[in-house]
Amino acid sequence: AKLTNDDVRNLAKDLGVKFVRLQFTDIFGILKNVAITVEQLDKALDGELMFDGSSIEGFVRIEESDMYLRPDPATFATFPWKPQEGAVARLICDIYDHDGKPFAGDPRFVLKRAIQEAAEMGYTMNVGPEAEFFLFHVDSEGKPTTITHDKAGYFDLTPVDLGENARRDMVLTLEQMGFEIEASHHEVAPGQHEIDFKFAEALDIADKVVTFKFVVRTIAQRHGLHATFMPKPVFGLSGSGMHMNQSLMKNGKNAFYDPAAADGLGQDCIYYVGGLMKHARAISAIVNPTVNSYKRLVSGYEAPVYVAWSARNRSPLIRIPAKRGESTRIELRNPDPACNPYLAMAVCLKAGIEGIKNRIMPPAPCNRNIYEMTPAEREQLGIGSLPENLHEAVQELKKDKVIQEALGEHIFGRFIEAKEIEWDRYRVQVHPWEIEEYLTKF
Ligand code: GLU
Ligand code: MG
Ligand code: MG
Repeated sequence: AKLTNDDVRNLAKDLGVKFVRLQFTDIFGILKNVAITVEQLDKALDGELMFDGSSIEGFVRIEESDMYLRPDPATFATFPWKPQEGAVARLICDIYDHDGKPFAGDPRFVLKRAIQEAAEMGYTMNVGPEAEFFLFHVDSEGKPTTITHDKAGYFDLTPVDLGENARRDMVLTLEQMGFEIEASHHEVAPGQHEIDFKFAEALDIADKVVTFKFVVRTIAQRHGLHATFMPKPVFGLSGSGMHMNQSLMKNGKNAFYDPAAADGLGQDCIYYVGGLMKHARAISAIVNPTVNSYKRLVSGYEAPVYVAWSARNRSPLIRIPAKRGESTRIELRNPDPACNPYLAMAVCLKAGIEGIKNRIMPPAPCNRNIYEMTPAEREQLGIGSLPENLHEAVQELKKDKVIQEALGEHIFGRFIEAKEIEWDRYRVQVHPWEIEEYLTKF
């Protein structure tokens, strides 16, 4: 059962909690904290704690800046790493404006709204994320580098590696915080790791992704390492993705599974894929939200480039893992861990639900290696590409009314504004590659 406010009060007392961090994320998925002492917990649980929203990027203007935090008691957790005195707990909060209405700039609210829309049709979304990250060394001044001393590869076991020890510690810490870790392994690139936790309902998982990143960074630091979820930190090596396994439940059953269908996939699953593919280019702006995200989405590194789906190979945007029955799901492969998980899940769910509502049939699955096809072959099969850069993705988002509706006017507006500035700042840079290429040539 979910924890109630009373449970939280009792737990805080029993566990000797001294400080409580009230957490929420801005529209870019950056974790924000308001720390209170346990003496203020009652006031906080009653939703009476206020903060100044104008100090948060992408939130509000000065004149309408009074915001209220309403902790979700179900998210109560204590941090297993102990400070000198008293335990530290956290609560993830919803944000309300001064009129007592859910704040439209709160990404958690955006996901809740999408979940509500799906619920009205009888669906619940389950998500299983697979976040990858790098562990890098810090220099003598403690500044993060992109250096790793580790020489391991996919699934390798190298007991002497600092990264392995750190990852073990991360897994143990996450388990103490209630995560059910399903797998944890070294990834393809040196210094690259993945930790997978068990799928659950979308809101729970979005909260968990935020917590996960915080724990991974904190534990890395304690091992003298820097953890980064930057999508492509090193040219020439694999980037870090955050594949999102998704399925819908209806009447307590996996709606993506149909034992009577030849491939075991229910009609809802097919339409969900149709909706995701139709809106994939606009969704990119949300699930691949940085300039750097698009340096990962290139061929040769198991990251998707083309908008296609398949049950057989890993090159397309959407893969259908072989498991059937209650484990039937689709795996969306373009999201990266720099995305805001609340918004990412909201736009995917919205697109999938649109697919079901409007019976959007996806193109035929593509079981060949798309990277080996000629452009003419791809065109003939109707296989489009994901956006090549952030600018293109933002343009797609501006054209897609469905995805805009999922975000709501407030977040859509602030997001576009911020991303256009980000792109412009990048566009005028003189990149080291250009110096190398042109300085002596011209
Ligand atoms: N690191 C790859 C990516 O950028 C994914 C590798 C995998 O299949 O786990 O998406
Ligand atoms: Mg992986
Ligand atoms: Mg995967």
